Amino acid sequence: MKEISSSRIYEILGDEFKNIYIVDCASQCVYAFKESLKLPGFSQSMKYNDAMNQYIDDRVYESNRDMLRMALSFHSLYTRLEKTEQFNIHYQSKSDSEVHFMYTHFGRIMDGNRLDKIIIGFANEDLDIRRNNLDMVNNTIVPSGLRRKVLIVEDNEINREILKETLKDDYDILEAINGEEGLKILSQNYKDISIILLDVVMPVCDGFEFLNRQKSDSLLASVPVIVTTGNNSQEDELKCLGLGAVDFITKPYNARIVKSRIDSVIKLRESSMTLAAIERDELTGLYTRQAFYHHARTFIDFISNKNCHVVVLDVADFKLINGTYGTKKGNDVLVYLANAFRYYGKNGLLTRYEGDQLLGLFHSDEHIDVEKIEKNLYKIVEDAPIPNIRIKVGIYENVDKNLQIPIICDRALMAVKSISKDFKTNVAFFTKEMNQKQLAQRQMENEFKSAILNKEFKVYYQPKYDVKTEQIVGAEALVRWQKQDGEIISPGKFIPLFERDGLVVQLDTYVFENVCQFQHYRIQNNLPIVPISVNLSRASIHFSHVVAKYVEIVEQNEIPFDCVPLELTESAALYSQQIATITEQLVKAGFILHMDDFGSGYSSLTSLNELKFSTVKLDKSLIDYINQNRGKKIIQQAIDLGHGLDMKVVAEGVETKYQRDCLEKMRCDEIQGFYYSKPLKEEDFISLASY
Ligand code: C2E
Ligand code: MG
Ligand code: MG
Repeated sequence: MKEISSSRIYEILGDEFKNIYIVDCASQCVYAFKESLKLPGFSQSMKYNDAMNQYIDDRVYESNRDMLRMALSFHSLYTRLEKTEQFNIHYQSKSDSEVHFMYTHFGRIMDGNRLDKIIIGFANEDLDIRRNNLDMVNNTIVPSGLRRKVLIVEDNEINREILKETLKDDYDILEAINGEEGLKILSQNYKDISIILLDVVMPVCDGFEFLNRQKSDSLLASVPVIVTTGNNSQEDELKCLGLGAVDFITKPYNARIVKSRIDSVIKLRESSMTLAAIERDELTGLYTRQAFYHHARTFIDFISNKNCHVVVLDVADFKLINGTYGTKKGNDVLVYLANAFRYYGKNGLLTRYEGDQLLGLFHSDEHIDVEKIEKNLYKIVEDAPIPNIRIKVGIYENVDKNLQIPIICDRALMAVKSISKDFKTNVAFFTKEMNQKQLAQRQMENEFKSAILNKEFKVYYQPKYDVKTEQIVGAEALVRWQKQDGEIISPGKFIPLFERDGLVVQLDTYVFENVCQFQHYRIQNNLPIVPISVNLSRASIHFSHVVAKYVEIVEQNEIPFDCVPLELTESAALYSQQIATITEQLVKAGFILHMDDFGSGYSSLTSLNELKFSTVKLDKSLIDYINQNRGKKIIQQAIDLGHGLDMKVVAEGVETKYQRDCLEKMRCDEIQGFYYSKPLKEEDFISLASY
């Protein structure tokens, strides 16, 4: 084989490569250039594809492997180099556990019209961060631009010439004679421009406007700006700093200062450390969400011929783990899980998506094997740093590649959320119904404001009966959403949603006002009244002015506090200092508090003891067990407990005479349930109560 001279190699590659290889296109064999260091796999002459595959397996970061394999097969290289003289490719490698940013340069040697040899240079440190990042989006491969580019935006020709003269040996120069033109050049070349030198005073879009407009586009904003000022005005300098400029140079220019400022800004920006910090989650070493979004697009586009799947791992009750074992142990769990995810998800792009959620994007043409996932989960749970953790898996199988990445991820999250409260199911798939449900929820949120204005929320009243006299002694206000087309939506569909997004605070107040007005009307007209309790959600309790607001409403309506008791759900009342303080303030102000849904979730005996409830409501789920012996015992104990703490006991969800009779024997005080009446419209309630 013909020797290739060193000068020919350096002519093609420049002099920054220590690892240089030559592929002979006829035999497809690769050998190390004689002056080169040797990479494993390339040490002796071997088939290019084998050597490259081995290099990729040994050195390249998992998530980059598939892309590289495709881009760097002999066939791809050959076809590409037939069309272009040279190109760079960027990726991440790992040695030990460290990630490095690499780039490899490919050039060609022709023999007449035929591609004879491919020259490959590996550079150990890819300093050009922006290119590394952005080129991944643009299909990884770009024509090389080995020298850094500086954009000079300056209207004064002499100043431009001076700067050009100073910089032309080290940089390629682009010029613009005003901000407008500068922005145009920047948006076409942002990938290649390492730094901008910007004059402040210019006709047609001055420096301030330039900075403002640049800032609004995150791609353009990634290019640092040094402002050049003539008048040494501190005010201008401060203003530019505020707009994101990184440094100043004052005119007339001192060549050494100009160069050293530019060098230091470029160095600072391009240190791989900065990128690593943005790219990698500190704790788990997985991609951060931003970096994931960035790479995921390429990942999906690269493997357009295969199906992609998104998998989310979610630690159930992670807050509880942190609370019980401490954050350090919580962190251990996350790191352990991230490692397990890496192990099982070798060919994926993995990220710590949020707090305790890890997410991976995979490709495979096979169907996802749920049994295998469950087996792996079992192993993961068994070896976890703390016992009995529960891990939920949400899967969006065969993703719609046209969707934006955050939406794709959202779908896997929807799947995992659908089983977050389900103790038996650990794996769930995204379904169309979930999407429809989410869309419907969005719509409800959008319509909320107008629904309040149009009075579409209607208060229904469900009477409470005294067990002994079987007379109506109270009622509970329950909200319904009556749409303008007549459809009635039950609170189970919107209250949990509005609790999450905070709208429930407004809704609770609305219902409370309505009930107060109802009581006000009856009192003003000398009509009999019974206490009507109103639900106060968890979110409302945390709303800072809740006490003042509710007191104000009662006072405005000139009604006694005890005719509008407040029902707090048991989980809302879960003892915390803040809730203790607010409930105490409510009681001090004169309100009567009922504990709702007792026995439905985490039973909180502390709150029963610590907080000032006058009444406890036994949840329907308890009452449903009344026909069983154990159920009877539990209900009897709950009633006795309530009485022992001087509370009245109300049973909810009573549907049958048998249940009613049992409760009477157990000395329950009041009953609210379909056995007596469903929640009724105001006029129906009035006529039933015949008052
Ligand atoms: P909740 O406060 O525990 O209200 C009792 C629920 O049990 C009501 O459901 C009621 O209709 C239902 N119920 C009563 N007796 C029976 C029965 O015998 N059988 C059956 N199957 N159900 C019975 P609803 O009206 O659908 O309300 C559900 C939940 O929505 C309420 O549970 C409450 O947590 C919430 N909610 C309703 N209105 C409001 C409100 O204005 N504000 C807030 N924050 N939450 C509300
Ligand atoms: Mg209630
Ligand atoms: Mg209840």
